[in-house]
Amino acid sequence: MPTSPPPLDLVLSQGSLQDFVDCPRRFQLRYVLGQPWPAEAAAPALQTERFLRQAERFHRLVHQHLLGVPADLLTRAASAEPVEAELVEAEPAEAPLARWWRHYLASEPAAAPPAARRYPEAVLSAALGDYLLMARYDLVLAYPDGRTAIFDWKTAQRRPRRAWLAQRLQTVVYPYVLVEAGEGLFGGRAPAPEQVEMVYWFAEFPLAPERFAYSAEQHAQNGRYLRSLVAEMERLAEAAEVWPLTDDAQRCRFCVYRSLCDRGRTAGRLEELEMAAEEADELEIALDFEQVAEIAY
Ligand code: SF4
Repeated sequence: MPTSPPPLDLVLSQGSLQDFVDCPRRFQLRYVLGQPWPAEAAAPALQTERFLRQAERFHRLVHQHLLGVPADLLTRAASAEPVEAELVEAEPAEAPLARWWRHYLASEPAAAPPAARRYPEAVLSAALGDYLLMARYDLVLAYPDGRTAIFDWKTAQRRPRRAWLAQRLQTVVYPYVLVEAGEGLFGGRAPAPEQVEMVYWFAEFPLAPERFAYSAEQHAQNGRYLRSLVAEMERLAEAAEVWPLTDDAQRCRFCVYRSLCDRGRTAGRLEELEMAAEEADELEIALDFEQVAEIAY
Protein backbone atom coordinates (compact mmCIF):
# COMPACT_ATOMS: atom_id res chain seq x y z
CA MET A 1 0.00 0.00 0.00
CA PRO A 2 1.47 3.39 -0.94
CA THR A 3 2.44 5.53 2.06
CA SER A 4 1.81 9.27 2.14
CA PRO A 5 4.85 11.55 2.23
CA PRO A 6 5.67 13.29 5.53
CA PRO A 7 4.14 16.76 5.93
CA LEU A 8 7.55 18.44 5.88
CA ASP A 9 10.33 18.06 3.32
CA LEU A 10 13.29 18.50 5.66
CA VAL A 11 16.60 17.12 6.84
CA LEU A 12 16.89 18.04 10.52
CA SER A 13 19.98 19.04 12.46
CA GLN A 14 20.79 20.30 15.92
CA GLY A 15 20.77 23.83 14.51
CA SER A 16 17.31 23.60 12.98
CA LEU A 17 15.89 21.86 16.05
CA GLN A 18 17.40 24.55 18.28
CA ASP A 19 15.66 27.15 16.12
CA PHE A 20 12.39 25.28 16.54
CA VAL A 21 12.75 25.16 20.32
CA ASP A 22 13.78 28.83 20.51
CA CYS A 23 11.09 30.11 18.14
CA PRO A 24 8.83 27.96 15.95
CA ARG A 25 8.25 30.92 13.63
CA ARG A 26 11.98 31.24 13.01
CA PHE A 27 12.12 27.54 12.15
CA GLN A 28 9.16 27.94 9.81
CA LEU A 29 10.65 30.97 8.06
CA ARG A 30 14.13 29.51 7.72
CA TYR A 31 13.57 25.84 6.99
CA VAL A 32 9.96 25.37 5.90
CA LEU A 33 9.49 28.50 3.79
CA GLY A 34 13.16 29.11 2.89
CA GLN A 35 12.72 32.82 3.58
CA PRO A 36 15.85 34.82 2.64
CA TRP A 37 17.46 36.64 5.54
CA PRO A 38 16.43 40.30 5.42
CA ALA A 39 18.71 41.67 8.18
CA GLU A 40 22.06 41.02 9.83
CA ALA A 41 21.95 39.03 13.07
CA ALA A 42 24.33 41.19 15.08
CA ALA A 43 25.96 44.55 14.81
CA PRO A 44 28.35 45.80 13.65
CA ALA A 45 28.22 43.63 10.54
CA LEU A 46 31.96 43.88 9.80
CA GLN A 47 32.91 42.66 13.27
CA THR A 48 30.38 39.85 13.04
CA GLU A 49 31.74 38.71 9.70
CA ARG A 50 35.28 38.82 10.97
CA PHE A 51 34.36 36.76 14.02
CA LEU A 52 32.76 34.12 11.83
CA ARG A 53 35.70 34.08 9.43
CA GLN A 54 38.18 33.58 12.26
CA ALA A 55 36.08 30.81 13.79
CA GLU A 56 35.92 29.14 10.41
CA ARG A 57 39.67 29.43 9.91
CA PHE A 58 40.29 27.97 13.36
CA HIS A 59 38.12 24.96 12.55
CA ARG A 60 40.03 24.51 9.30
CA LEU A 61 43.42 24.69 11.05
CA VAL A 62 42.43 22.05 13.58
CA HIS A 63 41.02 19.85 10.85
CA GLN A 64 44.27 20.05 8.88
CA HIS A 65 46.27 19.30 12.02
CA LEU A 66 44.16 16.23 12.72
CA LEU A 67 44.77 15.10 9.15
CA GLY A 68 48.53 15.25 9.77
CA VAL A 69 49.64 18.67 8.49
CA PRO A 70 52.69 19.72 10.60
CA ALA A 71 51.86 22.15 13.40
CA ASP A 72 54.61 24.65 12.51
CA LEU A 73 53.18 25.11 9.02
CA LEU A 74 49.77 25.76 10.48
CA THR A 75 51.19 28.11 13.12
CA ARG A 76 52.58 30.27 10.33
CA ALA A 77 49.15 30.33 8.70
CA ALA A 78 47.49 31.22 12.02
CA SER A 79 49.93 34.10 12.57
CA ALA A 80 49.31 35.50 9.10
CA GLU A 81 45.76 36.58 9.90
CA PRO A 82 45.42 40.04 8.30
CA VAL A 83 44.37 42.93 10.51
CA GLU A 84 41.67 44.97 8.89
CA ALA A 85 42.08 48.72 9.04
CA GLU A 86 38.62 49.32 10.46
CA LEU A 87 39.41 47.16 13.48
CA VAL A 88 42.95 48.16 14.31
CA GLU A 89 41.94 50.26 17.28
CA ALA A 90 39.91 47.48 18.83
CA GLU A 91 42.53 44.84 18.06
CA PRO A 92 44.12 43.16 21.11
CA ALA A 93 47.87 42.49 21.18
CA GLU A 94 47.36 39.02 19.73
CA ALA A 95 44.77 38.26 17.08
CA PRO A 96 42.10 35.81 18.31
CA LEU A 97 42.96 33.18 15.71
CA ALA A 98 46.64 33.06 16.75
CA ARG A 99 45.63 32.89 20.40
CA TRP A 100 43.10 30.07 19.85
CA TRP A 101 45.66 28.13 17.87
CA ARG A 102 48.33 28.60 20.55
CA HIS A 103 45.85 27.39 23.18
CA TYR A 104 44.96 24.39 21.05
CA LEU A 105 48.59 23.31 20.59
CA ALA A 106 49.46 23.86 24.25
CA SER A 107 46.50 22.01 25.73
CA GLU A 108 46.14 19.16 23.19
CA PRO A 109 42.41 18.71 23.83
CA ALA A 110 42.17 15.56 21.71
CA ALA A 111 45.37 13.85 22.85
CA ALA A 112 45.00 10.06 22.63
CA PRO A 113 47.12 6.91 22.32
CA PRO A 114 48.50 6.18 18.82
CA ALA A 115 46.04 3.31 18.35
CA ALA A 116 43.05 5.65 18.71
CA ARG A 117 41.19 6.46 15.50
CA ARG A 118 40.29 10.02 14.65
CA TYR A 119 37.38 11.05 12.43
CA PRO A 120 37.56 14.81 11.88
CA GLU A 121 34.64 16.54 10.19
CA ALA A 122 32.58 13.36 10.25
CA VAL A 123 28.98 13.58 9.09
CA LEU A 124 26.35 11.05 10.16
CA SER A 125 22.60 10.88 9.81
CA ALA A 126 20.04 8.79 11.64
CA ALA A 127 16.33 8.24 11.06
CA LEU A 128 14.00 10.29 13.22
CA GLY A 129 10.47 9.24 12.36
CA ASP A 130 10.03 10.05 8.67
CA TYR A 131 13.00 12.41 8.66
CA LEU A 132 16.77 12.30 8.66
CA LEU A 133 18.60 13.84 11.58
CA MET A 134 22.09 14.93 10.56
CA ALA A 135 25.11 15.66 12.74
CA ARG A 136 28.37 17.21 11.59
CA TYR A 137 31.12 16.54 14.12
CA ASP A 138 34.31 18.54 14.53
CA LEU A 139 35.98 15.34 15.71
CA VAL A 140 34.97 11.85 16.75
CA LEU A 141 37.74 10.04 18.60
CA ALA A 142 37.52 6.26 19.03
CA TYR A 143 39.80 4.95 21.79
CA PRO A 144 41.24 1.44 21.58
CA ASP A 145 39.16 0.32 24.59
CA GLY A 146 35.87 1.15 22.83
CA ARG A 147 35.22 4.55 24.41
CA THR A 148 34.24 7.28 21.97
CA ALA A 149 34.55 11.03 22.46
CA ILE A 150 32.77 13.69 20.43
CA PHE A 151 34.73 16.95 20.38
CA ASP A 152 33.30 20.31 19.48
CA TRP A 153 35.50 23.40 19.23
CA LYS A 154 33.98 26.63 20.54
CA THR A 155 35.44 30.08 20.01
CA ALA A 156 33.06 32.29 22.05
CA GLN A 157 34.56 34.97 24.27
CA ARG A 158 32.54 33.80 27.26
CA ARG A 159 32.37 30.29 28.59
CA PRO A 160 28.79 29.01 28.84
CA ARG A 161 27.67 27.38 32.06
CA ARG A 162 27.19 23.64 32.18
CA ALA A 163 23.43 23.91 32.73
CA TRP A 164 23.07 26.05 29.61
CA LEU A 165 25.12 23.62 27.55
CA ALA A 166 23.24 20.61 28.90
CA GLN A 167 19.95 21.78 27.43
CA ARG A 168 21.34 22.73 24.02
CA LEU A 169 20.10 20.58 21.17
CA GLN A 170 23.71 19.95 20.17
CA THR A 171 24.26 18.11 23.48
CA VAL A 172 21.15 16.03 22.75
CA VAL A 173 21.60 15.38 19.04
CA TYR A 174 25.32 14.61 18.71
CA PRO A 175 25.53 11.59 21.02
CA TYR A 176 22.08 10.42 19.92
CA VAL A 177 23.06 10.28 16.25
CA LEU A 178 26.41 8.67 17.02
CA VAL A 179 24.72 5.83 18.92
CA GLU A 180 21.99 5.43 16.29
CA ALA A 181 24.22 5.65 13.21
CA GLY A 182 27.81 5.21 14.39
CA GLU A 183 28.25 1.94 12.53
CA GLY A 184 28.44 4.06 9.37
CA LEU A 185 31.59 5.63 10.78
CA PHE A 186 33.22 2.69 12.47
CA GLY A 187 32.35 0.15 9.81
CA GLY A 188 30.59 -2.36 12.00
CA ARG A 189 29.16 -1.58 15.37
CA ALA A 190 27.92 1.69 16.79
CA PRO A 191 29.17 2.54 20.28
CA ALA A 192 26.92 1.79 23.26
CA PRO A 193 25.59 4.93 24.97
CA GLU A 194 27.80 4.35 28.02
CA GLN A 195 30.88 4.43 25.76
CA VAL A 196 30.09 7.92 24.45
CA GLU A 197 31.21 11.25 25.85
CA MET A 198 30.52 14.74 24.50
CA VAL A 199 33.32 17.29 25.02
CA TYR A 200 33.05 21.03 24.41
CA TRP A 201 36.50 22.56 24.18
CA PHE A 202 36.73 26.34 24.44
CA ALA A 203 39.53 28.04 22.55
CA GLU A 204 39.50 30.97 25.01
CA PHE A 205 39.39 28.62 28.03
CA PRO A 206 41.58 25.73 26.94
CA LEU A 207 41.95 24.16 30.37
CA ALA A 208 38.24 24.16 31.16
CA PRO A 209 36.47 21.87 28.69
CA GLU A 210 32.96 20.71 29.53
CA ARG A 211 32.33 16.96 29.41
CA PHE A 212 28.98 15.18 29.26
CA ALA A 213 28.80 11.45 29.90
CA TYR A 214 26.05 9.53 28.09
CA SER A 215 23.90 6.55 29.12
CA ALA A 216 21.17 4.23 27.83
CA GLU A 217 18.67 6.10 29.98
CA GLN A 218 19.76 9.46 28.56
CA HIS A 219 19.64 8.02 25.05
CA ALA A 220 16.05 6.83 25.52
CA GLN A 221 15.09 10.21 26.99
CA ASN A 222 16.75 12.05 24.09
CA GLY A 223 14.89 9.88 21.59
CA ARG A 224 11.54 10.68 23.23
CA TYR A 225 12.35 14.37 23.30
CA LEU A 226 13.42 14.48 19.64
CA ARG A 227 10.35 12.57 18.50
CA SER A 228 8.13 14.95 20.48
CA LEU A 229 9.69 17.92 18.66
CA VAL A 230 9.00 16.28 15.29
CA ALA A 231 5.40 15.53 16.28
CA GLU A 232 4.89 19.17 17.26
CA MET A 233 6.39 20.35 13.96
CA GLU A 234 4.04 18.12 12.01
CA ARG A 235 1.09 19.32 14.03
CA LEU A 236 1.97 22.94 13.28
CA ALA A 237 2.52 22.16 9.60
CA GLU A 238 -1.05 20.85 9.42
CA ALA A 239 -2.71 23.39 11.68
CA ALA A 240 -0.99 26.78 11.51
CA GLU A 241 -0.25 29.18 8.68
CA VAL A 242 1.97 31.26 10.94
CA TRP A 243 3.81 29.21 13.54
CA PRO A 244 4.04 30.68 17.07
CA LEU A 245 6.43 33.57 17.63
CA THR A 246 8.65 33.31 20.68
CA ASP A 247 7.43 35.07 23.82
CA ASP A 248 11.01 36.05 24.63
CA ALA A 249 11.54 39.29 22.76
CA GLN A 250 15.24 39.18 23.68
CA ARG A 251 15.71 36.43 21.11
CA CYS A 252 14.40 38.71 18.41
CA ARG A 253 17.22 41.22 18.90
CA PHE A 254 19.65 38.78 17.28
CA CYS A 255 17.25 37.26 14.78
CA VAL A 256 17.52 38.04 11.09
CA TYR A 257 13.73 37.97 10.71
CA ARG A 258 12.90 40.67 13.26
CA SER A 259 11.67 43.12 10.62
CA LEU A 260 9.29 40.48 9.21
CA CYS A 261 7.90 39.83 12.67
CA ASP A 262 7.69 43.50 13.55
CA ARG A 263 10.10 42.90 16.42
CA GLY A 264 12.50 45.77 15.64
CA ARG A 265 14.93 46.68 12.89
CA THR A 266 18.20 47.28 14.75
CA ALA A 267 20.54 44.37 15.36
CA GLY A 268 21.81 43.55 18.85
CA ARG A 269 25.49 44.14 19.40
CA LEU A 270 28.04 41.34 19.16
CA GLU A 271 29.28 42.01 22.72
CA GLU A 272 25.77 41.43 24.02
CA LEU A 273 25.62 38.02 22.35
CA GLU A 274 28.73 37.05 24.21
CA MET A 275 27.38 38.44 27.49
CA ALA A 276 24.46 36.06 27.12
CA ALA A 277 26.67 33.06 27.73
CA GLU A 278 27.93 34.41 31.00
CA GLU A 279 24.41 35.00 32.18
CA ALA A 280 23.59 31.47 31.02
CA ASP A 281 19.93 32.22 30.56
CA GLU A 282 17.79 31.59 27.52
CA LEU A 283 19.63 34.16 25.43
CA GLU A 284 21.99 32.51 23.00
CA ILE A 285 25.58 33.03 22.03
CA ALA A 286 24.06 32.97 18.61
CA LEU A 287 27.13 33.35 16.47
CA ASP A 288 29.12 30.59 18.06
CA PHE A 289 26.35 28.12 18.68
CA GLU A 290 24.12 28.66 15.68
CA GLN A 291 26.34 29.78 12.87
CA VAL A 292 29.64 28.17 13.83
CA ALA A 293 28.22 24.98 15.27
CA GLU A 294 28.17 23.14 11.97
CA ILE A 295 30.69 24.96 9.87
CA ALA A 296 31.17 23.47 6.44
CA TYR A 297 34.09 24.79 4.45
S1 SF4 B 1 12.10 37.94 15.10
FE1 SF4 B 1 11.58 36.88 17.00
S2 SF4 B 1 9.53 36.05 16.64
FE2 SF4 B 1 10.39 36.54 14.63
S3 SF4 B 1 11.36 34.69 13.90
FE3 SF4 B 1 12.93 35.87 14.93
S4 SF4 B 1 12.94 35.10 17.04
FE4 SF4 B 1 11.03 34.45 16.11
